[in-house]
Amino acid sequence: MSGFADQLNLMWQLRELDARVFAAVSRAALAARETANAASAEAAARKKLDDAKARLRDLERRERDTEVEINALQKRLGQLEDTVNSATSDAIRKQAADALAKERAGLDALENTGLGLLDEIEKAKAAVTAAEAAHKTATDRVAAAKAAQDGHQAAAAATQQEVAGPRGQLAAAMQEELLHAYESARSRHPDSPICGIKDSFCEGCSGELTMHHATRARARNEVIRCPHCTRIHDSR
Ligand SMILES: [Zn+2]
Repeated sequence: MSGFADQLNLMWQLRELDARVFAAVSRAALAARETANAASAEAAARKKLDDAKARLRDLERRERDTEVEINALQKRLGQLEDTVNSATSDAIRKQAADALAKERAGLDALENTGLGLLDEIEKAKAAVTAAEAAHKTATDRVAAAKAAQDGHQAAAAATQQEVAGPRGQLAAAMQEELLHAYESARSRHPDSPICGIKDSFCEGCSGELTMHHATRARARNEVIRCPHCTRIHDSR
């Protein structure tokens, strides 16, 4: 085996270590996105809960106001009844009786309003309960996502640490020029800076390659780059 082929073999070993780190870091990044998604879902659930509580408070306030109005109207009805009963003339009695009839209709309407509000309050309470449950679920999801993220971050850091030593040794054993070629390909393709050729197609990007290109890669005595994606090609 020529020296150059040995160098390419080292490159593959480097790729294996780098791919491990890349996968671990990607999992941590994915977990971080999940945490962010869970946090925005939690914020939306909290907003819904706040809105449901505000609606309930509003209905309860309107119901209390209606109660106050009903009490005042009942008092007024009592006064009108007294006037009807103690009227000294037909004219006064009739005037009071008309007013009484009108106020009684008003009282009926108010009582209906009050009943309707009580009904709505019950529904609003159920909505608050449902929103509380949804918010609890969302909060739990944030906690679970955060825990998973912490786990993935710790795993990524551990992988990085584990790989650092062997990676350093591999890099030290490589010719500077080849290491540079590898690193420049890795900056674009962190998981696969070097790849194979299958049936005249790049295994990295599936781009079509010439026979000549494939032959040169098979010779393993120079750095061959994919003309489409710039990955280093090697036919082991
Ligand atoms: Zn390619």
